[in-house]
Amino acid sequence: MKNIAQSLTDLRHEIAACAREHGRDATAVSLLAVSKKQPVAAIRAALDAGQTDFGENYLQEALDKMTALADSHACWHFIGPLQSNKTRAVAEHFDWVHTLDRDKVARRLSEQRPADRPPLNVCIQVNISAEASKSGVDPARLPELAATISSLPGLRLRGLMALPAPTVDFEAQRRPFRQLRETFEQLRAGGLELDTLSLGTSADFAAAIAEGSTLVRLGTAVFGARPG
Ligand SMILES: *Cc1c(COP(=O)(O)O)cnc(C)c1O
Repeated sequence: MKNIAQSLTDLRHEIAACAREHGRDATAVSLLAVSKKQPVAAIRAALDAGQTDFGENYLQEALDKMTALADSHACWHFIGPLQSNKTRAVAEHFDWVHTLDRDKVARRLSEQRPADRPPLNVCIQVNISAEASKSGVDPARLPELAATISSLPGLRLRGLMALPAPTVDFEAQRRPFRQLRETFEQLRAGGLELDTLSLGTSADFAAAIAEGSTLVRLGTAVFGARPG
């Protein structure tokens, strides 16, 4: 197993340095450790190293890990594709959802959020030009979806998320992130109180931070290659 504590220390320094380099506060960007397909022992190692936020893509796998780590104070983020038939478990067990892109799913999550828990934090996934998958709302339909979501009592709209197609060129990596940040600023100018831009993976987080990401989602950089 990779030395997870060391990776986290190195990445925190790298993220802070990158933020400063682009005129931002060193604490402006938080790190979400993407633990999909990683064993519980790897998550424990990260928890022991002070990491609290974890991203999971597959519902059953995530629920099993939550059970195994019920004694921890981990904060769980759902970052995989979300179908309507999975909303109840997500609403009951997660703290965040980053991949909300349909109002039907939003309404179900809001209705199914347990009354004794704070509203579920959500980011809307936007399908900007170079999206790697078919997920995400069309930017033209974003203002309407954002308005709907902000009216739902069980949800708290925090911001936007995107997953652009991979490219190695730094300037090409920046372009879709910049587009999303501009969209984010338009929504804020329209009166929505958003504070989260969920942008950047192990392969492109420096470009995402350059363009204003407030949360990078790092899997392989933290844990090493995913098994299987
Ligand atoms: C898997 C995944 C990541 C992490 O990717 P790495 O390349 O391992 O850093 C980030 N975001 C989403 C939505 C993912 O599915």
